[in-house]
Amino acid sequence: MATTEVTGAEEVAWDLGDLYNGIDDPRIDEHVSQAEADAGVFRERYHGKIAELDAPGLAEAVAEHERIESTIVRPLTYAHLVFAANMGEPAHGALVARLGEKAAALETQLLFFALEWAAVDDEVADRLLADPALDDWRHHLRSQRKFRPYLLSEPEEKVLTEKTVSGVSAWSRLYEEQLGALRVGIDGEEIALESAMARLFDADRDVRRTTAGAITEALGPGLRTRTFVFNTILLDKSIDDRLRKYPTWISARNLANETTDEAVEALVEATTSRYDVPQRYYKLKARLLGLDRLDHFDRFAPVSTDAVKRPWDEARRIVVDAYTDFSVDAGEIVSRFFDEQWIDAPVRDDKRTGAFCATTVPGVHPYVLLNYTGDRRSILTLAHELGHGLHGVLAQPLGLFNSSTPLTTAETASVFGEALTFERLLADEEDPRNRLDLLAGRIEDAIATTFRQIAMNRFEHAAHTARREDGELAPDRVEELWLEAQTALFGDSVSTEGYGPWWSYIPHFTGTPGYVYAYAYGYLFSLAIYRQYVREGDAMVEPYLELLRAGGSRAPEELAKIVGLDLTDPAIWASGIDALSEELDEAERLAAEVGLG
Ligand SMILES: [Zn+2]
Repeated sequence: MATTEVTGAEEVAWDLGDLYNGIDDPRIDEHVSQAEADAGVFRERYHGKIAELDAPGLAEAVAEHERIESTIVRPLTYAHLVFAANMGEPAHGALVARLGEKAAALETQLLFFALEWAAVDDEVADRLLADPALDDWRHHLRSQRKFRPYLLSEPEEKVLTEKTVSGVSAWSRLYEEQLGALRVGIDGEEIALESAMARLFDADRDVRRTTAGAITEALGPGLRTRTFVFNTILLDKSIDDRLRKYPTWISARNLANETTDEAVEALVEATTSRYDVPQRYYKLKARLLGLDRLDHFDRFAPVSTDAVKRPWDEARRIVVDAYTDFSVDAGEIVSRFFDEQWIDAPVRDDKRTGAFCATTVPGVHPYVLLNYTGDRRSILTLAHELGHGLHGVLAQPLGLFNSSTPLTTAETASVFGEALTFERLLADEEDPRNRLDLLAGRIEDAIATTFRQIAMNRFEHAAHTARREDGELAPDRVEELWLEAQTALFGDSVSTEGYGPWWSYIPHFTGTPGYVYAYAYGYLFSLAIYRQYVREGDAMVEPYLELLRAGGSRAPEELAKIVGLDLTDPAIWASGIDALSEELDEAERLAAEVGLG
């Protein structure tokens, strides 16, 4: 539970007036109607005619498409922000639902554009894309055609798309509903799975142990059904991949992430070959907690003994200074978030938990939502979200389509900003125990974002492969594959007793197969940029800002070249893990110094 101590953040609320004046602002409906009318005109003008356009005609169509999207994104973003700040107000939920339906209907109207463009012959498309008239849209248009080699005929695509609703989407929803309905029995009360999971962060080991036991028990009864749904989704995907002739189970995901099978294999290899790093850390953590060995439910236990709360103004100073030391321009942009009320900072009833940065529409800056409690974690979260904010502000002149990034590069600026701030906190801290706590927190986050996600990717790989080779997987078999992947990660550093059915609470495996590795990709990519900065110093500042200004207008590999990195070189992943290993060396040294080694 969040603390309610006074931090000075209590009155720090965002001003959404740059979007609308309130949920009753008549411009909300005006903009929706405008977008609907424009989409109708767009469809009238272009439906069935995309193949006939010349390069300037195509450029005009994309620009108009983007303008219509921006028109609807504005009220939609506003609704989500108002709702996130106060979810308890029924009018906010109603606005989100109403605008969500409008936006979905609008998307259906505009869908033909991407489909018709993907259907254009390669030769014709290449000729068009070589035209200077399409300079601004080349990457966007190319991305829309990337699935083309795997598309089927139009009638086949139509059948597959329509059957998805009663097929894989329905199974995936059933899975989510099953998870949502799970209740965990704690102290005679039935609580939601999410609330139970939060108890694994408790400092009291008995709380963690009983909670974990109750979760294992709660996962039992529906396991047969969830295993069946998982099998069905694995089968559906294998049919899809076979019909479309994708080389591997993860190829379609890699394509969507704008990366290649080779790059992802290199990432997996680099990470799995260094499982000694998390194993060393978990052994250190056991010593910090005074245990012989961690149980799986001890991994999220707090190691910090430092209860110091930092006031909001101090957090602001630390983060702004960290950005300003890097670049005065970056520091100025980050300062604007505070000066111009782009941040909603405090913990409040009915507010969304966690933190996010929402980039809005061309012409309007991003907004940041936090639940600031004053602990060190929430200072790093502030730095993280302001990294997204800086990225959003710098890329915004490119417009809606070219500024948005795939998941693989979305964390570029956030992880970097967090690293800048972390180094500053560490430099200011002289007490070895506090330094150790800081480092432990940093290593733990890195392990959760890299090693843990790749171990989950190995489980997915094993499950998809086994389903294709051996047919339907029994519940015991799925558990076996899950525990194999987890044991590879933990070695003998963590006991997995009772952990068998825990694969089945992770919605990514059924909702978005292949999703999880992108977290590791994004983190290690950003860490590599940060290390390049540590080596090269100020010479890296301008290229880095240029990288952010490029938003998502180029493929990740091209973006990496701006800062002198080669994403096709497997060494990029290994060097990030080496950096993590060095931080762990330092943490072990400090632990020995304070008598916990
Ligand atoms: Zn982020």
